[in-house]
Order: sequence, then C-alpha cells, then structure tokens
Amino acid sequence: MTEHLSTGPIRFLGRTARESLTRQRGTVFWFYGLSGAGKSTLASAVEKALHEKGHLTTLLDGDLLRTGLNRGLGFSDDDRRENLRRAAEVARLFCHSGVITLCSFITPTKAFRSLARQIVGEDDFHEIFVKADFDTCRARDVKGLYAKAEGGSVKQFTGRDSGFEEPDRADFTIDTTTTTESTCVDQLLAWMLPLIAPQ
Ligand code: ADP
Repeated sequence: MTEHLSTGPIRFLGRTARESLTRQRGTVFWFYGLSGAGKSTLASAVEKALHEKGHLTTLLDGDLLRTGLNRGLGFSDDDRRENLRRAAEVARLFCHSGVITLCSFITPTKAFRSLARQIVGEDDFHEIFVKADFDTCRARDVKGLYAKAEGGSVKQFTGRDSGFEEPDRADFTIDTTTTTESTCVDQLLAWMLPLIAPQ
C-alpha cells in the first residue's frame, strides 16, 4: 500500500497514514436483502457494538441517502443502479479514510452487487445477505410499504413488481427468520472483527 498518492506536484495523504490513526483496516460491509429483512436493524446494532469496542464506523442507509445524496432518484433499473453506484463511491471514500463502513441497501440483483464490489474493490468489500422470505417481510411490514405496494400506491416494489435475485454464495448469509437479532449480531461480529484488524 503506498503511503502517498501522487497526482502531479501534489502528494495526497494515503490510506496507510489514515489507518494509522484509526488503528483498524478500512472495510466495507454491504448488507442486502428484501425490505424488512433486517438490514438496517442489524447494521445499526453491529455499528453500535463496534463503536463500543472503540472502532470508528459509519452507516450508509438506503432510505436515508434517498433524502439527500440520492434525492430525486426513483426505482427504475437505471435509477437503482445510479443510487447504488453513488453509495458505493461514498463507501469507498470512507473505507480509504480508515472507517468501518456499514451499508444497508436492498441491492436486488447480482449485477448491482457486482458493481458495488467493483467500485469498492475486491479486497475491501464484504457482502452480507440478510435473508428473510417475502411472506415474513410482508408480515413484519415495518415501514408499511408492503401494504402500500398491495394497494398500488408504491410501485416497482422489490419482491413483488420488481425482482430480487438471491446470491449463489455471499461472503456471509444471515437468516433473520431462524436466528434471533442478538445471535445475528454476535455471529456477524465474530466474522467481522478479524477482517477489520489492522494490517
Ligand atoms: P430492512 O432494513 O431490511 O428494510 P428493518 O431492519 O428496517 O429491515 O426491519 C426488520 C424488522 O425485522 C425489524 O422490525 C426487526 O425488529 C425485525 N426482526 C425480527 N427478527 C430479526 C432479526 N433476527 N434480525 C433483524 N431484524 C429482525
């Protein structure tokens, strides 16, 4: 890893220097799955646990980013792609600043996941499939979106009008229909901690 990047006469501070302050490896954990599967619940619980252990973290949440950075983007394929492309670029910036970056986005297709992985970089990108079947998510209906989709006031709803591709293999799969929230968090942390240890 180079200490400084050179673009002409300016020598930018590099990642290794930044990570020497954060004392951890900048890493991106990308939580994906259906709406209501448990992405935000787990990402925020994991973030809190990491924070309490002294790690510098950030959380990029799809719903929140759509109110700012991604305002104006809808749910067509092109807009979803742009939404994820921007999120992945931001995740990469945080990661290169030595921050543990937790991302929570439906990311419905293999192509979108692969785009995010390509932008962030293979070595820094870890995908977590938050697994829960459509009927369970519909029964949870945390944000009332399933009812709205059925009533027709929310269009292009993932899992209903718009497809969700399950992965052939994810770096980590957590099934929130069979595992309690606290066990999910414990299992995730046990897997994550070695990945964020300083190099
Ligand atoms: P998403 O971010 O995927 O749209 P949310 O995290 O907002 O989903 O909502 C998930 C819902 O499922 C929450 O109400 C949460 O309490 C519930 N839930 C039940 N079991 C689990 C679990 N094992 N892990 C995470 N969430 C769970």
